[in-house]
Amino acid sequence: MKKICLRCGCNSFISDRSLGGRIVCKRCGSSSIGYKGFLSLKNKNFLYLMIIFVVFLIIIIL
Ligand SMILES: [Zn+2]
Repeated sequence: MKKICLRCGCNSFISDRSLGGRIVCKRCGSSSIGYKGFLSLKNKNFLYLMIIFVVFLIIIIL
């Protein structure tokens, strides 16, 4: 899981000492950090494979 800033999409962070070592975005200073959705990417790949499979099936039938 890769961390990204939810505000600007930057993926480098620093721990702010004034906030008690809280991790904030290096670029915009935002503390709203999220995770990149690998699950949605996997689902997209699965859908792509399904489309290829269906196309192959149609070719075989014809
Ligand atoms: Zn940011």
